[in-house]
Amino acid sequence: MKIIAVGGYEAVGRNMTGVSVGKETVALDNGIRLDTLQMYDREISMLQAKKPEYLARMDVLPRADRLKDVVAQVISHGHLDHIGGLPFNRPRAPIISTPYTVEMGKREYRGGDFSSIGYGEVSEVSSNFSVELVEVTHSIPYSSFVVLHTPEGDVVYASDFRFDNNSIIARTDYKRLRELGRGNVKALIVESTRSRVNGKTPSEALVRQELKDVMEFIDSGLIIATTFSTHIERIQSILDEVVKVGRIPLIVGRSLVKNIELARRFGLLELPSNAKLLATPKAIKAALAELGDRDKYFLLVTGHQGEPDSVLSKMTDGRFQVKLQKNDSVLFCTDIIPTPLNYATRHVLETKLKSFGVNIFEGIHVSGHASREDHRHLLKLLKPDHIIPCHGSMDMRSDYLVLAAEEGYEVNNQIHLLMNGTEIDL
Ligand SMILES: [Zn+2]
Repeated sequence: MKIIAVGGYEAVGRNMTGVSVGKETVALDNGIRLDTLQMYDREISMLQAKKPEYLARMDVLPRADRLKDVVAQVISHGHLDHIGGLPFNRPRAPIISTPYTVEMGKREYRGGDFSSIGYGEVSEVSSNFSVELVEVTHSIPYSSFVVLHTPEGDVVYASDFRFDNNSIIARTDYKRLRELGRGNVKALIVESTRSRVNGKTPSEALVRQELKDVMEFIDSGLIIATTFSTHIERIQSILDEVVKVGRIPLIVGRSLVKNIELARRFGLLELPSNAKLLATPKAIKAALAELGDRDKYFLLVTGHQGEPDSVLSKMTDGRFQVKLQKNDSVLFCTDIIPTPLNYATRHVLETKLKSFGVNIFEGIHVSGHASREDHRHLLKLLKPDHIIPCHGSMDMRSDYLVLAAEEGYEVNNQIHLLMNGTEIDL
């Protein structure tokens, strides 16, 4: 068996790993790297015309052509750093994921040969591979651990996850993980972005509590909140609080509306009856022109990282119907994704917000990624023979190596640090 590191092994983003048995390979994830993308172009659509080799050289895409004889492309979940490479790399092999993630994939890559499987089902790919998806909690619905059953043992691909036992939309299948651990897990390929952070990543329940506290505290002015458009559980928590304080929610922005509609189709999100979804510039203009008493409204918008073309940035630049006023409040229900560019754009946005006299509430957020004790727990559940940390820079993966060594794994014999473009024979 060979594990091939394609992307995501030197920095966060553009995740892709290959697993080869005999002459066949299964590709795991096919993502883009957003921060390098932003440096070149703001709109992903503008890059459609560019060749994948060119985008790989820009550190935006993984070098998918490194994988030969691919019999299946499996996608773990719908975040762009795991799925966003599909329309550029255009894999011809069947693309396997959960029904929800397949719907997200189809939006990006129309010509793809998608095939969905539910949790607990096994899809036979060939005599060397069958694919199983195991439910796990993360920050987007229907995230999976990918299990490849092969004649040489199982490979578990765990990127991304956190263990949230109080999630309202997902449940980690500990029972199945324990069963796999009693079998033969030959290799665990595991994300490492927060392997330095002590303890356990807190539950989304903590955000619900904080939101309640902040929303009850604000007694007047327009309230505007921003969060990840794919984070359905967070959006539900926000809308629940809006209902409790008796405001009218207006949800503004194409990506938010798109993801909310998908989640509703899957029964994952309940929209308040008085909520308005505003996706087109025309609908936004009409609804916002009528905005009367600011104390009655609540806006959920895009733009948490200060992206220049987002709704929130447009509001601060006067390019939007609603003008900000003193005593309005902005809630950042995210953290800053730690890249220099994001720090810069967020700084610009916050400076502009303050110039209007807007009150800023930030850090209403918990991470979607596993911390050190979550990782230790996973190792105890799965008991893998080999560990390959992925999805992280060298120092993040080194932190994982230290943790695995603490658990008795031998460095280099059992824990392997690969770089993009390298592979290991197990
Ligand atoms: Zn993710």
